[in-house]
Amino acid sequence: MTRLLQNFVGGSFVAGGEEFDDVNPVDGSLVARVQAADQEVVDRAVRAARAALDGAWGRFTAADRVALLRRVADRIEARFDELLAAEVADTGKPVPLARDLDVTRAAANFRAAADLVAGLGVDSFLTETALNYAVRRPLGVVGVIVPWNLPLLLLTWKVAPALATGNAVVVKPSEETPASATLLAEIIAEAGAPAGVFNVVHGFGPGSAGEFLTTHPDVDGITFTGESRTGSAIMKAVAPRVLPVSFELGGKNAAVVFDDADLESTVDGLARSVFTNTGQVCLCTERVYVQRGIFDEVAAGLAKRAQELRFGRPDDPETTTGPLISQGHREKVLSYYAIAEQEGARLLTGGGIPSVGEELTGGSWVEPALWTGVGNSARIVQEEIFGPVAALMPFDTEEEAIRLANDSPYGLAAAVWTTDLQRGHRVAGAMRVGMSWLNTWYLRDLRSPFGGSGLSGIGREGGAHSLHFYTEPTNVCVKL
Ligand code: NAD
Repeated sequence: MTRLLQNFVGGSFVAGGEEFDDVNPVDGSLVARVQAADQEVVDRAVRAARAALDGAWGRFTAADRVALLRRVADRIEARFDELLAAEVADTGKPVPLARDLDVTRAAANFRAAADLVAGLGVDSFLTETALNYAVRRPLGVVGVIVPWNLPLLLLTWKVAPALATGNAVVVKPSEETPASATLLAEIIAEAGAPAGVFNVVHGFGPGSAGEFLTTHPDVDGITFTGESRTGSAIMKAVAPRVLPVSFELGGKNAAVVFDDADLESTVDGLARSVFTNTGQVCLCTERVYVQRGIFDEVAAGLAKRAQELRFGRPDDPETTTGPLISQGHREKVLSYYAIAEQEGARLLTGGGIPSVGEELTGGSWVEPALWTGVGNSARIVQEEIFGPVAALMPFDTEEEAIRLANDSPYGLAAAVWTTDLQRGHRVAGAMRVGMSWLNTWYLRDLRSPFGGSGLSGIGREGGAHSLHFYTEPTNVCVKL
């Protein structure tokens, strides 16, 4: 029987709403039917969140919230296999990737947020004449809107600090990946969260749950991860109410490889940064600048790694690479393969649709594509493609590499590869991005700031940075 995913409002699942398909991108099969939240359901969810804040949830102490978050992490671990199966069916990603990247991080996100609040103090300034101290109040009802590429990881990355600081949330998972958020609703309720603290509304963006949430008059802030264009639409939607927003948006991330880099580990790192999750991580590298002397060697090494990728079912131990999320996204990525050709790029390898066998032909498969022979102004170098792709370009000097890497409307992440550590620190620090890695990629400490500049976002989350978004400080000044 086909599973039905429902909205979760005020502590229980509610029946009703126009249904849409949740499709497995591996073979196009139906995972579940999903009931979309209409305006009335979104309104009920926001009202339930407000009632929780005004009621039992508002009376939770910080210690109560910390304990709750730790129980949520324990419950995620207890229901690990169910979450893993949900994530794999919705995204098509290989099981080890979903296990190590997505579900493991979900529990870690709750533990990190619990630790943060457990050790929290307040800003205070004592002089001869006055004592100033700032109390932090929760923002209130927070709308959480997330994408499909790392569904549970990105959802919990926002929900955990929001709850840790005493907010109530209404979350809108991606229409492509609604299952893990639905399970998380059960988990958070099982862990003892009062009704209304965590609500899930399913649906799409414009004219659907996403828009109903961002235009709701009683939402106090929006935290969003997704495309830059969507961020811009949400900003317009909340502008009349001047709501605070936290945006983690698109990227067109550069890698800079100097000729003294350790070749083997660099090619390994580049391959990981280009091909992980079929290139569908906002932090993935899509531009690779290589110092001229080692350009051919790096290009050949990366092309070999692309040829070694194995497409297949998520539970096949041979599989390294899953499909793209949907047929629609595949059309977008393939359109860039055509644009690359029109722009005169030289294709090093891939660039088509792999043969995956009859059983999987209904899936959204693409080969990777590596290009050379284009300049920085090419569309494939300037626009986010969000697939297993990279354009490789040579440079001669450090100054040139910095200039080329920074010549982008995006500012999310960069990776610098060199054994000259002085240069490494210098260049990594000169990248106009939110996160700059030196001789590694996507190595995360959850206390460090995460986010981007330019088209890549507004604000930072992570550790103390999350506190700034999810709370409103009130300074109390006492005359002595
Ligand atoms: P998307 O912007 O299309 O959708 C993201 C979410 O927003 C979905 O839940 C969608 O239904 C909703 N939405 C769409 N239009 C809306 C509107 N007008 N109002 C309210 N909600 C709306 O993004 P996507 O295709 O799901 O995800 C891929 C994008 O996410 C890429 O650009 C990627 O770089 C970005 N991303 C960024 C980060 C980061 O941390 N910076 C992390 C992951 C993904």
